[in-house]
Amino acid sequence: MQTTLADFIKDTAQGKEAESILRSCVHCGFCNATCPTYQLLGDELDGPRGRIYLMKQMLEGQPVTAVTRVHLDRCLTCRNCETTCPSGVQYGRLIDIGRDVVEQLSPRPAGERLLRAGLRRILQTPTVFGPMVKLGQGLRGLLPSTLREHVPTGSPATVMPLPDGETVKPASRRMLVLEGCVQPNLAPETNAAARRVLARLGIALVAAPDAGCCGAIDQHLAAPEAARAAMRRNIDAWWPFIESACEAIVMTASGCGSTVKEYGHHLRHDPEYAEKAARVSALTKDLSEVLRDEDLTALRTVKPKRIAFHPPCSLQHGQKLRGVIENILTRAGHELLPVDESHLCCGSAGTYSILQPELAGQLRARKLSHLQARGPELIASANIGCQSHLAAASDVPVVHWITLLEP
Ligand code: SF4
Ligand code: SF4
Repeated sequence: MQTTLADFIKDTAQGKEAESILRSCVHCGFCNATCPTYQLLGDELDGPRGRIYLMKQMLEGQPVTAVTRVHLDRCLTCRNCETTCPSGVQYGRLIDIGRDVVEQLSPRPAGERLLRAGLRRILQTPTVFGPMVKLGQGLRGLLPSTLREHVPTGSPATVMPLPDGETVKPASRRMLVLEGCVQPNLAPETNAAARRVLARLGIALVAAPDAGCCGAIDQHLAAPEAARAAMRRNIDAWWPFIESACEAIVMTASGCGSTVKEYGHHLRHDPEYAEKAARVSALTKDLSEVLRDEDLTALRTVKPKRIAFHPPCSLQHGQKLRGVIENILTRAGHELLPVDESHLCCGSAGTYSILQPELAGQLRARKLSHLQARGPELIASANIGCQSHLAAASDVPVVHWITLLEP
């Protein structure tokens, strides 16, 4: 697509990247066919092609209004359009730039700014988020319905200790694991199960105490500098472990994995961190990538279940990992049920379900109707956001898939 960027951005790193992405789009519109918001709203400006056009106009210096921001806000950043696009347009990177620029050219009302700043602060601080979840559970009956559904029912599953020494192979390998920001409070059983499962394979998981949120929350709420600060902090926290022969950095939430695998890109212009960031990204693996190559005979389950699996967008479109977890669960003895429209987003999308509750609710209802269509005993997924969002309206339990590899 012919593009002439405005003076305010054309010579910046953002401008150069945006221009090259815009030029790769041939405006064919194939991507609209798999865009969840285009399917729901049927408006060209709520599909990827229309949003790309809006960003092009903005970056070329044409007037920007709240309308541009509204259509970019409605995008889930699910990156389904990237998977569909025959021209390899890197839509996810373009929308990150577009959101940053629209925020500056068309500032939000104070209330929206406050809500977003509050979400960034609360969700990334486990010592604040944990007590707020407990408070929300105590006051559940008094909360408005839009807020109530984001408060998990009941306590997280009990965290079991590692199995006895006799059932664990001596750990000959060591990997880092990211604890994350919301997962330790909403589903501490996930990383605990990952530790136990990998212990059976002779792999010890260690966490760096100073690591925290991967940066995705800031990145997707148009705060790229804060996101880069979170990335640098994690790199500093992980570096001593990397130097002492940790062979991989394991992600148990695919949303975090998708972001950490792009640290190298986000910090490529930082002379102090560029090389380290590229190394961190290269070492990062989704938990399924670790198990994919292992002998899973020892993990074959004695309690096979009928499972409907929801592949998060950050796994299938962000990391391009499709069918890996389904294959692992089948090898472990479970029955995986076919699920229609498995390529579509469930509506969770980070903070999207809080900021766009109506669209998120419609997408969840559609997703759950497909997941529950063949009567599964359980729904499994690979990202804490999808898990919590689906669980709030599901008739069957929603779990992280790693918990299904335990006896
Ligand atoms: S993003 Fe890809 S699929 Fe969509 S209009 Fe551009 S070239 Fe076509
Ligand atoms: S990222 Fe998802 S919601 Fe956004 S334009 Fe692409 S397909 Fe549509």
